Amino acid sequence: MYYSFFEIFSIGIGPSSSHTVGPMRAAKRFIDNLHTEELFERVTKIDVTIYGSLALTGVGHGTVKAIVYGLMGLEAEKVNPEIPYVNAVKLDKILHLAQEKPIAFDLDENVIFKKDVFLPEHSNGMKFEAYSKEGQLLLSETYFSIGGGTVVRQDAIAKRVDREPLKIPHDFNSFVELQKICEAQKKSIAEIIWENECALRPESEVKEGIFKIREIMQNAIDRGMKATGILNGGLNLPRKANGIYQRLEEKFRNNEYDPLLILDWLSLWGFAVAEENAAGGQIVTAPTMGSAGIMPSVLRYFERFAASKSPYSLEDGILKFLLTASGICSLYRSNASISGAEVGCQGEVGVACSISAAGLCAAMGGSILQVEASAEIAMEHNLGLTCDPVAGLVQIPCIERNAMGAVKAVTSARMGMKSSEHALVPLDTIIKTMMETGRDMNNKYKETALGGLAVSVATC
Ligand code: SF4
Repeated sequence: MYYSFFEIFSIGIGPSSSHTVGPMRAAKRFIDNLHTEELFERVTKIDVTIYGSLALTGVGHGTVKAIVYGLMGLEAEKVNPEIPYVNAVKLDKILHLAQEKPIAFDLDENVIFKKDVFLPEHSNGMKFEAYSKEGQLLLSETYFSIGGGTVVRQDAIAKRVDREPLKIPHDFNSFVELQKICEAQKKSIAEIIWENECALRPESEVKEGIFKIREIMQNAIDRGMKATGILNGGLNLPRKANGIYQRLEEKFRNNEYDPLLILDWLSLWGFAVAEENAAGGQIVTAPTMGSAGIMPSVLRYFERFAASKSPYSLEDGILKFLLTASGICSLYRSNASISGAEVGCQGEVGVACSISAAGLCAAMGGSILQVEASAEIAMEHNLGLTCDPVAGLVQIPCIERNAMGAVKAVTSARMGMKSSEHALVPLDTIIKTMMETGRDMNNKYKETALGGLAVSVATC
């Protein structure tokens, strides 16, 4: 199953694609379906039940806020985080469905948390029920947020996507298939993905859209480097990116030599985006919001420090980077998972690290086998990475983990660039292993905040 670049990289508001963007999209789809079924006018009451991981970490991840946005008909790309929509609902106990129809809505009564119920299909489940004034159940739908902001309705969960396969010239389900296409066509991974994307929308829109994604990523770095203060949520965690930036600038002014300075820049950019995400800023799912700092950091490393040694122009290098990362991410999405609630953090930070390593290797002129090696190395050393966010917030360990992921991605690409033959562990094998490791992982370590750091760190 091919996933488009624009499904993989989407613009949204932090802090979590599966716990924020996904529930928001599900709520909006439910409201749209009420319209389609011509039931909307009869609705006087909505109940939302959230299950499992969504219920356990939903408060820290902003799930309730996202559901309110969705019921109001707002879309992730357009929501204005400055407007206090949810506070108004909290105070007035009135919600304007699709911004058209006011109904009574008490956040404490109409949003029901079932923390100990994990629906069998996926741990990020949510059920929406609409009632008439006579108390008749008009519509009931259950959705799952399966990672990266993607939601599927219960009747489509087995396919993991509720859309038809995309009509593209090059379909592939494994790296081996992708490699064969590249060899037969004498084209790079980036060229194959480009042709697929141009079959889905006009070429000018593809290019403009890719550079828009790059711009949002880079803007998040710039905002994050300037911002100061304490992150919301109750951990009293100060933002660190600005301090790192000030120290780096000082070293530069003083002409201080430090051979490892590049590690600090990578960490800074990873911190900057991850802190923006934690603060609810606008970022790109890459492939999720919790792991959204890694790719912008590695991309900026390419642009600032490595592009001069690339065989491509800067623009072509950026395109190679992002398109290759997208192609590799499509493999993770179709053969494994990018949901921390399903496979732990290896599916978020691990995948972000792997696809960034692949992108960097391609942008530096690496061969298809070197791209495979880079992606494989990066995932191999993230296998088993658990998701155990303290207080259910996307802050500890998430923010530092983005910085570490960026450093690891660059190291993996450099190691991958040195490999000259087929790796002993193929990328397809590591993707399958990641999924199996995720299936074996205890639920305590899958975005439930019931194990690991989440229970070891005192939060008051
Ligand atoms: S630990 Fe990883 S998967 Fe879990 S919330 Fe943080 S970034 Fe996401």
